[in-house]
Amino acid sequence: MRTFHIQMSEDCLFCKISAGTIPAKIAYQDEHCVAFHDINPQAPVHVLVIPRKHVPSVADIPDDLCAPLLSAADKVARDLGVGESYRLVTNKGADAGQSVFHLHWHVLGGRRLGWPPG
Ligand code: 5GP
Ligand code: ZN
Repeated sequence: MRTFHIQMSEDCLFCKISAGTIPAKIAYQDEHCVAFHDINPQAPVHVLVIPRKHVPSVADIPDDLCAPLLSAADKVARDLGVGESYRLVTNKGADAGQSVFHLHWHVLGGRRLGWPPG
């Protein structure tokens, strides 16, 4: 088994999922990121892609993590059969709907998605 030594924030749910101390249904992982199925899916495919490192929001993302996270999101979408049509969204700040303050991209697909979002 590979082990990753990554900076964690002790009380962060997604750091714990990344470290494997809280279980999640993993869709993809590599040295930079982990993708897992959302516990409360809003579409037939609803996966969260997170950096392993604790990054609070998109405002804090280091340049060298941008490309790996976006590539992972597209890979997950293709692997789960929605590569042709999916939505990639991140909520930044409470008013936008961010409830977990560890950066995550929602990958949503498998149904027709409304626009504009709520
Ligand atoms: P946000 O509201 O911050 O944009 O998104 C947080 C997402 O995390 C929500 O869609 C929520 O359903 C999901 N979530 C919250 N707690 C857990 C958990 O323990 N496991 C998983 N797999 N997803 C979670
Ligand atoms: Zn975290």
